Amino acid sequence: MAGEFYLQKALFPSFLDRLRQDGYEVHGPQIKDNAIVYGPLRGIEDLPRGFRDHQGPGRYALGAAEVDEEALWFAWANGPQALKPYVFAPREPLWQAARPDGHRLQFTPYLPPPRPLAIIGARACDLAALAIFDRHFLQNGEPDPQYHRRRENLLLVAVNCSHPAATCFCAATGDGPQVQAFHDLVLSELAQGFVVGIGSERGEMLVSALQLPPADAGQLAQVQHSLARAAAAQQRTLPGEVQAKLLTALDHERWQQVAERCLSCANCTAVCPTCFCFRAGVDGDISLRVSDHYREWDSCFNQGHSYMHGLTIRGDTALRYRQWLTHKFSFWHEQFGRSGCVGCGRCISWCPAGIDVTVELSAICG
Ligand code: SF4
Ligand code: SF4
Repeated sequence: MAGEFYLQKALFPSFLDRLRQDGYEVHGPQIKDNAIVYGPLRGIEDLPRGFRDHQGPGRYALGAAEVDEEALWFAWANGPQALKPYVFAPREPLWQAARPDGHRLQFTPYLPPPRPLAIIGARACDLAALAIFDRHFLQNGEPDPQYHRRRENLLLVAVNCSHPAATCFCAATGDGPQVQAFHDLVLSELAQGFVVGIGSERGEMLVSALQLPPADAGQLAQVQHSLARAAAAQQRTLPGEVQAKLLTALDHERWQQVAERCLSCANCTAVCPTCFCFRAGVDGDISLRVSDHYREWDSCFNQGHSYMHGLTIRGDTALRYRQWLTHKFSFWHEQFGRSGCVGCGRCISWCPAGIDVTVELSAICG
């Protein structure tokens, strides 16, 4: 069943009902603490309809949409939250060691319960990041059981971006604004409905169950126009040959200059959809018979991240910022065959010091 179909906005509640009937818990974008994040979606009334985001270095604000955008439900770019917490929990137990009878040790793994989850509104950059996560957590040696359990229960209803933020540069990294892969369905928004593209068998079954009509030539032309406009609206870009140039600039004076502004707060790595560093820890029991072993997100900006045998390898901020940039934009190519940046721009908007990764790369590699 190839092709693209048309879903009227008036039928969107039936679409959500269908997902629930199929056993999915439905999550989608909504406003919380003055930002657009994902959460449980009760209905279309929860969507941030009629809102626009305003983003810049160290700046994120929501405001009313323009009059000609009021009918749109997705006329905004990503907020701080990517798909990351849905597949890689910020903190989670991994396994327990116990000695219930005082002698033999027992080991029990913790696995998240199966939870079919449909996420509405994922964007192209976040699906590109998910592809990197799949490679890291599933294809890089033994699959990560916790990630695998969450990932296999995910249904992704993506939305093509029509209104990128000023901080977006997915067109420069080749990851957006058009959704390319890793979705079950992709929606392109028009004033009265959505053009629906199919990305998987599960998506095909949903479209078939809803008996959607094919999209017409006029609707498809509007989608192409919207995507071209979204790509052209992006102002930020990356300098050429970053991968090689960064490695010849390890002593560049800019590392020290950026370190004078950087707070080592780790906001950039927390919001980055491709950062997956974690640290492992143990919650002990006073009886010394049970220990729970967990992992939680870590960051190369944390001092403890590079601590080894009494020595912190990257003791100052300049070294940590350099580690972040050189890993993401250079060494990542060796690990994953591509850069670690999908151009979402979150690290620019959510950096309290307003440090802009595209500006820093231009200064170092331009
Ligand atoms: S480095 Fe910044 S722009 Fe690139 S993917 Fe991470 S948060 Fe997004
Ligand atoms: S670059 Fe910005 S967000 Fe990242 S650690 Fe430094 S101050 Fe924090």
